Amino acid sequence: MIQKTSCCPICSSNDVEVVCELKNYPLTELFVPSCGNARDRTQHPLIESDQTLKYCSDCSHAFLENVISPDYLYSKDNYNTVTTNSSGSLISIKNFARFINQQNHEVSYTIDIGGNDSNLLRLINCEVGCVIDPNASSNDKRYSAINNFFEAINPEKFNGAPVNIVSSHTLEHIQSPHTFFNFLSSIKTIEHVFLQFPCLELMHESSRYDLIHHQHLHYYTLNSIQTLAKQYGFIINAYEYDHDHYGTLRVHIAKEKVLLKQSIHEKLSSKLDINDLINDYKLFNKSCSNNSSMLTKLPSLYCYGASLMLPIIYYYYPSLSSLSKGIYDMDESKSSVRYANVQTPILHDDGKVDFNNMSICITAVATKSAHRKILTNLAKRQPIYIFNPFGAL
Ligand SMILES: [Zn+2]
Repeated sequence: MIQKTSCCPICSSNDVEVVCELKNYPLTELFVPSCGNARDRTQHPLIESDQTLKYCSDCSHAFLENVISPDYLYSKDNYNTVTTNSSGSLISIKNFARFINQQNHEVSYTIDIGGNDSNLLRLINCEVGCVIDPNASSNDKRYSAINNFFEAINPEKFNGAPVNIVSSHTLEHIQSPHTFFNFLSSIKTIEHVFLQFPCLELMHESSRYDLIHHQHLHYYTLNSIQTLAKQYGFIINAYEYDHDHYGTLRVHIAKEKVLLKQSIHEKLSSKLDINDLINDYKLFNKSCSNNSSMLTKLPSLYCYGASLMLPIIYYYYPSLSSLSKGIYDMDESKSSVRYANVQTPILHDDGKVDFNNMSICITAVATKSAHRKILTNLAKRQPIYIFNPFGAL
């Protein structure tokens, strides 16, 4: 069920160091029926696993040491796909499309690797293309959906006309980035590649180490994506960091021969220092642990937001297990389930619940827009206290 990654998955260096050890780190996105027989309520054989974040100082890449089998992590029983069209992911796709449209590249047949639908292809005005993903769908005749993993597809079938690639928040899930780049390189007519993924620079800047989870195997930097791309003859033509979605890096890469303007590929970003990362994580962990003790004084404590990532908040705030009386959420369907690794019941907020006599800990904090919206709405409903578990929002 678990494979170990020992050397750097980007540059193969053995000079990798531990940033943090996460003992019994919970798996996210696992739900069970809130009532029913005992077998239904214990259907997940793995609900937590030791994890380690490692960092390669040679290419500035962070990665998880323990890779849980994707067959388990993304099994239909385990993976909650109800919220694929959250407002956070829509904002992220729109920002990505804006970045792509700014590059003045030749728009040609475009393959979206890992997309849920044809939304991104439509936003970048491409005339014809496809989406490759086991769960892909398309409601636009111009684009086909190929329901498979890209690894199972022969890239040579795309040879012929020029091909562009777009891929949003997919690369961080792929165990071997080299498999992905081998696929790209095998398309002889490939021209422009646009990628966006969570980045280590902004996770470090905001000290939001709660964003580490078992599904995100990689924490790229501008340096590490460049090191990877170079190995396949690609260079970075443009990039941007986006704070809007808690730390995304977007890059436009291409084979040198198709680029019209001077590339920026030799301007490497400054590398993060391993000691800074280690110390920063220690501070983060210590601050959570202090705050967790202080929660015990807040009267009548409830959580707000039954988010997919909630078990990680309970990991850093263990006192919530005994203190929180319930987790409110606007989505009524969530009241019929509970987390596989959190016992607190999920309660429906129909908008009329009186929070005046409650203290509320916000527990939907992985998407900045949703996080801010909850905070604004809660403030209007005047609970005794609003508690925000992690500093920057
Ligand atoms: Zn490396």
